[in-house]
Formats: sequence, structure tokens, C-alpha cells
Amino acid sequence: MRTTNATHDPALRSWVTAANSAESDFPIQNLPFGVYARDAGDAGRVGVAIGDRVLDLRAVHAEGLLVGDGEIAGRHCAGTDLNALMGLGGKYWSALRAQLSALLREGSGAAHTPGLAERILVPAAGVMMRVPAAIGDYTDFYASVHHATNVGSLFRPDNPLLPNYKWVPIGYHGRASSIVPSGTAVRRPMGQTKPADAAMPTVGPTKALDYEAEIGMFVGPGSDLGDRVSIDEAESHLFGICLVNDWSARDVQTWEYQPLGPFLSKSFATTISPWVVTFDALLPFRVPPRVRPAGDPAPLPYLAATRDIATAGVELAIEVSLATREMRERGMAAIRLSRSNARDLYWTPAQLLTHHTSNGCNLRPGDLLASGTISGATRDELGSLLELTRRGATPLTLPTGERRSFLEDGDDVVMRGSCERAGAVRIGFGECAGRIRG
Ligand code: MN
Repeated sequence: MRTTNATHDPALRSWVTAANSAESDFPIQNLPFGVYARDAGDAGRVGVAIGDRVLDLRAVHAEGLLVGDGEIAGRHCAGTDLNALMGLGGKYWSALRAQLSALLREGSGAAHTPGLAERILVPAAGVMMRVPAAIGDYTDFYASVHHATNVGSLFRPDNPLLPNYKWVPIGYHGRASSIVPSGTAVRRPMGQTKPADAAMPTVGPTKALDYEAEIGMFVGPGSDLGDRVSIDEAESHLFGICLVNDWSARDVQTWEYQPLGPFLSKSFATTISPWVVTFDALLPFRVPPRVRPAGDPAPLPYLAATRDIATAGVELAIEVSLATREMRERGMAAIRLSRSNARDLYWTPAQLLTHHTSNGCNLRPGDLLASGTISGATRDELGSLLELTRRGATPLTLPTGERRSFLEDGDDVVMRGSCERAGAVRIGFGECAGRIRG
């Protein structure tokens, strides 16, 4: 079990002064991991975000600044992805975090070592972020009961929530090859669609391109084929969280999804935020999971935690904003479409991971388990346009007078995540952004 320690102290400040700004997503209490490149030919290096800088882990290790388990962890950051570090496990992650926190905090000897800062820190503005792990498998769940109910009500008004929903965490196997880092343009996909009144389907660019606001959990140590990970052990297999935009072509989805679920309507692109906020950093923001309404079934025993129940949920707000080409040309700020929270999910991260292995399916370091669209109970907590516009029936009117049922070419969709709680320093996730192109 993870416990808070000196790295979570809200009084901690860094000698990287930008990290001390209340607006920074990356204060010293956060220390998220990512993979960055200095130019297009750079295969990538493991880094940690601190304020407006990236700490180069290979350089930190080469300087001899890590010891013991922290040194072992640092040695596993020599590659071009986070998989080796993810596979090590909590003892090593915690040691590395403690040593990086000590290195970066105000008063550390590192601040006064001539030339050291220049050797281990890079300005974040000058780097390109990569997908942080070699993602072998990507699974997308459907863990928001609000989203599931809203979507169900559009397609099946009389029977919005299917009878299995409250018993079994629903998911589908996604496509790992088309996961891209924030900032990558998203090309409007072609697809086969059939309007209800048409005699036969046609092929063309989707007319119903949508986003989905989600979180993604990176698997740490994997599990062996045939083994089941118990609910109380599940979190030791989770490394950290990023933001996920599961771009979706709704018209393609409507025609193709029965009977085996989404396929080409989702697999053309999935954008993730490049910084992975560790479960260690998230400790101050763990909360009890959403209380199941009276009358809902209790989770079956294999999904019912016996310990750490009060910290099984995550307080993590996701904001989605939209800026159209015309808004940018007229100098208008992006507008916020929604703000929802992962604490409202029906299933916890541990339940999702345990369910995934309950048939003996093995997980590997770097696998990505996404939550599914995170929506809440109110209008401003709807995490997709499908829900906000009632499948296009009630288009949004933008400050330019433009209307949106679904996304148009040139639209920018930006997701931002943050964890805030009294007594803790706010931590952020950076951006998960994409622009639509035709
Ligand atoms: Mn999804």
C-alpha cells in the first residue's frame, strides 16, 4: 500500500522557480514521467516534468546523483520509453521519486553545484513529447454510468442501461498502433455509414467526428498468462495516469458496432497527454469511490476490495475546451465545453485491472487501460459532443455564431486534467490536444 511521505509535503518548494507558481501543472509534488526528444531525429529520452523544465533521467543517473533502489530505477530510464521503469514496481518508483524530490527541492546541494542545472535540465518549451511507453495493448472501458446511461438513452430510449452494466465492467480492445501524443493532427477518417432512411451504405469522410474525455492508466509490473490479479493487489500493478481523447466517428460507429462493438470508428486515432502522473503523486487525491445508489447490486466478491476502500477512487477533474479556426482567426479564446471528474466513475482503477485479468489474460508493462468517457450528472459534465448535442439534435452555438453538432476541420480540442484538494498542492496533467484536419 502506498502512503504519503516527504515528497507530498505541501510546503516543499523547488529551486526550479517556475515549479512554485500556483498555475504550474508540475510542482515538485507532482514529478510526472514522460519521453521527450530534442529534435525529430532523437529517438527519445526519459524525463520528469518540473515547472517549465524537463529533468533528464539519463543525465541524472550519469551524474551519480542516485543511490540504492533509486539508482536501479534510474538505470531503467536509459531507454527510449518508460516500459523498463514501469516493469520494476513500487519499491523502485518510490525510491526514485524520493531522490528526485530531494534533488529538486529548495536548499538541495544540486542548486549550488556549478553547471549541474544546465547538464540535467532542458527547457520544456524546446522539446517534443513522444508517446511515453511502447503500448502493447490498449483496452478502453465504459466505466462512467452517466455516460453509459446518456448514450444508451440516445440509442435505446426505453432501455438505456443494459442489464449487465452494474455487474461487469464493460470494455473493448482498442488499437495501440494509432495512439499519438498531444499535439498530433487528427485526420478526419473515411468510413462506411448508412443513414436510417438510406437503402444502402456509402463510403466517405465521417460527418460525425467526436471526442471522448477519458483517463488512461498505465500498467506497471505485468501479470502472467493464466494468473488472476486480486482486487487488493491490483494497484501495485498500476504505474500512473494520463489523459486520453478517444476520437470517435459516430456515424461509422452506429452502422458498424453491432454485434461486436466499436472497430474502425475508434481505431483511426487516440490522443494521450504525454506526462504520466504516478499513483504515488496521486496519493493526496485518492477518495472513496462513488457510492452505489440504493438498489444497485454490490460488486461480486472478486471485485470487492477488502482494504484501502476509502482511497479506491481518484479526485481528478478533466476540462475540455474547443477553439474553431474562425475563433482563432478572430482572436477569441477557446470555450470550455465540460468539466467532469474521475471520482464519479462507477468502477475503480483496481476493479478495472482485476476484471481484465479475471479470465487469466496477462497484462504487460506499458499496457494502457482507459476509463471510457467520463461524464457526470449535470449538463456541464458531459464528456463528449454525442451527449452535449444529443447526437447532433441540439447543436452548440459558439461565440462566433458558428454551430457545432460534431467537430469540423480546423477545430482544436484541448483537454486538461488537474487534482485539487484542501491541504495539498494542486497537480496537473498538461495538455491532451489535437486539431482536426480534412
Ligand atoms: Mn472511449
